[in-house]
Amino acid sequence: MRSNNSVKEKKGRPPWRDALEKLLQQNSDLRIIENPEKLEYYRQDLNVDLPPMIRDLMLKSLPNVVLQPATEAHLLEIFSIAREHKIPLTVRGAGTWGYGGAVPTRGGILIDLGLMDTVEVNPDALQVTVGPGARFLDISRELERHSLTLLSMTSGKGGTLIGWMATGGMGFGTYHHGPVRNQLISIRVITPDGVMKDIAAEDPEIKYFLSTEGQMGIMTKATLRVGPRPSQWYPFLIPFEEPAAAYAFAKRLSSHPSIKPEDLMIYHSELIHALKVQSNGRMSVEDKNFVLIAFTEDEQSRQFKAYLDEERIQRADEASAKSLWEERFLPMSIKHLGPSLLATEVILPLDQVASYYEKISGWGKRLGLTLYPTSHLINHREVLFLAMLATDHRKAIFYADLLLIPMMIRLAVQDYHGKPYVL
Ligand SMILES: Cc1cc2nc3c(=O)[nH]c(=O)nc-3n(C[C@H](O)[C@H](O)[C@H](O)COP(=O)(O)OP(=O)(O)OC[C@H]3O[C@@H](n4cnc5c(N)ncnc54)[C@H](O)[C@@H]3O)c2cc1C
Repeated sequence: MRSNNSVKEKKGRPPWRDALEKLLQQNSDLRIIENPEKLEYYRQDLNVDLPPMIRDLMLKSLPNVVLQPATEAHLLEIFSIAREHKIPLTVRGAGTWGYGGAVPTRGGILIDLGLMDTVEVNPDALQVTVGPGARFLDISRELERHSLTLLSMTSGKGGTLIGWMATGGMGFGTYHHGPVRNQLISIRVITPDGVMKDIAAEDPEIKYFLSTEGQMGIMTKATLRVGPRPSQWYPFLIPFEEPAAAYAFAKRLSSHPSIKPEDLMIYHSELIHALKVQSNGRMSVEDKNFVLIAFTEDEQSRQFKAYLDEERIQRADEASAKSLWEERFLPMSIKHLGPSLLATEVILPLDQVASYYEKISGWGKRLGLTLYPTSHLINHREVLFLAMLATDHRKAIFYADLLLIPMMIRLAVQDYHGKPYVL
């Protein structure tokens, strides 16, 4: 991986290059990528594929080099060089976030944490300890070997768990088990001034490192509580003509004294339509708004069925419910409608979502854009609302679409009592 010609290029060579060469000589397991074609890959994450005008003229999204550390000691050394020579640093887990946090804006060194991917399961203590490169897919597989599972997780399994902690930490399981912070036992961080410390979940300082996108330092380790893997899921799909009715139902159910779903999500009709088209007939529901509810206990699912009958609430067929539940880790499979996807993520009060949605879909219609919204119920008062929109970064319209994202976040915060999900 190490380039042979890098040492020879004295002309135009940045002043920190000698320090870096020395570090690489002393640490044979610290890898460097500097081949221009390979560096191109790091200019984007899963969604952010910036048009040339932005990435070259307004920003410098191409890193000078990518370093792939294998140990915390490597990170301390990289920080030390960056501090001394004032080199911009960008931290990358798996690059799946979609908002560009792992993409440089001023060149410099990009730290790719992919090699630090350890997963250590302690089945007796029901705990897992992961490195910053460990992806959900690998962590889940390792836990499955012990019939265990993470208590909450994102719907994108290709990302790293620690990257998710840096970007919000809510998703499946949050309704039942709370945000990822509730499952944390401790984290280890390295701050830009070169201090490495372990922080317990109860320590108020932990909040500086969760949901702050790596701006306060790198999390190098996290230990979390895990739980037994459910032997079976019981998903239900309830249709509603209007989003407001779906959110009102979610609110009623979340206050029920004994029915406690493991998860509750709302899919707006536009997203249902797009997912149905590509389900190859597995989903045969109408283009309506749906509440997707899942239980892990047979008894709870029976009680829920009785509740629906009592309230005379229709539910969709079992095969459609099962299909949507099984596809829950593929919400971005609609990316082909783009080819780019942009998304707004905000935390909204449950009783504000429907009117917020009405407002933004009105904006979308005027611009000829379709929004594909979905919400995770977080608790009986709030949802994590995600609205994706399909766009094309190769066309001028991309700039207008891009502007819409901060406008939608501002609207949520100013007029609908919303909170931004991340910085
Ligand atoms: C299909 C799909 C569905 C998704 N669903 C959800 C969802 O339901 N809920 C949700 O919250 N997210 C969701 N996401 C986002 C995604 O899961 C997380 O943001 C992801 O896990 C981040 O991990 P990453 O390693 O790819 O981060 P990257 O994209 O590499 O980085 C994201 C940010 O975190 C920082 N960062 C990465 N690693 C560290 C570290 N070790 N220490 C400090 N900072 C770090 C980076 O600097 C960057 O700012 C989804 C993504 C996809 C693709």
